[in-house]
Amino acid sequence: SARIELDRVRKVYPAGPRGRQTVAVEGLSLVVEPGEVLALVGPSGCGKSTTLRMVNRLIEPTSGRVLLDGVDTAGLDPVRLRRGIGYVIQDVGLLPHRTVEANVATVPRLLGWDRSRTRTRVGEVLELVGLPVGAYGRRYPHQLSGGERQRVGVARALATDPAVLLLDEPFGAVDPEFRRQLQASLAAILAEVGSTVVLVTHDLDEAVRLGDRVAVLARGGHLEQVADPLTVLAR
Ligand code: ADP
Ligand code: ADP
Repeated sequence: SARIELDRVRKVYPAGPRGRQTVAVEGLSLVVEPGEVLALVGPSGCGKSTTLRMVNRLIEPTSGRVLLDGVDTAGLDPVRLRRGIGYVIQDVGLLPHRTVEANVATVPRLLGWDRSRTRTRVGEVLELVGLPVGAYGRRYPHQLSGGERQRVGVARALATDPAVLLLDEPFGAVDPEFRRQLQASLAAILAEVGSTVVLVTHDLDEAVRLGDRVAVLARGGHLEQVADPLTVLAR
């Protein structure tokens, strides 16, 4: 697992044809220690996704630095960088015409893993998310529930043992009643993997359940508080 450091990061989106420019993230400094789960919480539009996407460089900061294990990621090849980073978004984007096991095998195969190593690892991570390959491996995404699809997305992100795992509202599209269940299984998964995790959510309850520490962002992209879950709850 890797240490993530954001150093006075700022992101300004340029003005569109109609609107003014948007300051999405303002002067954000934050450290996530190796193996830690940091939950990033705050109201819609406060810059959570933007922050997360600056870690895997889907978005470039306007100023400030993002470091992984002390190395400024601005100097790294973004494609190589992303190979070490698992990324799960709300609507998980599985390949519809490929089976569950083929979806999970995508990144290992891209990285040149041979079939037998891939097969072993695919079995392990599907087991980890509670979808044993024997029962689920040959299904297609449309033959799964929304929650099961999200879990396949998590398995896919974990397949190559990423040093960093970025989760952006992973259960945003899931029914409230299943969210609890998925949160519990995700907590167990995160306890088992060694990755450093940043979890974005607008749900304080989810942040407190899953985060070792919770970072609260306020509108305008300012960091309001970083503390352990109980301290955040008590504020
Ligand atoms: P959150 O994830 O907390 O909902 P975002 O990071 O998605 O917030 O967005 C932060 C702010 O930046 C919002 O005001 C949003 O409208 C704006 N924003 C996000 N993406 C873009 C973009 N590609 N271009 C312009 N503005 C954007
Ligand atoms: P395609 O015909 O599209 O190449 P493959 O049958 O080769 O599809 O499988 C796609 C991916 O799924 C490959 O990366 C392969 O390693 C993986 N795969 C296929 N069968 C299994 C299996 N039983 N267990 C794990 N991974 C598998």
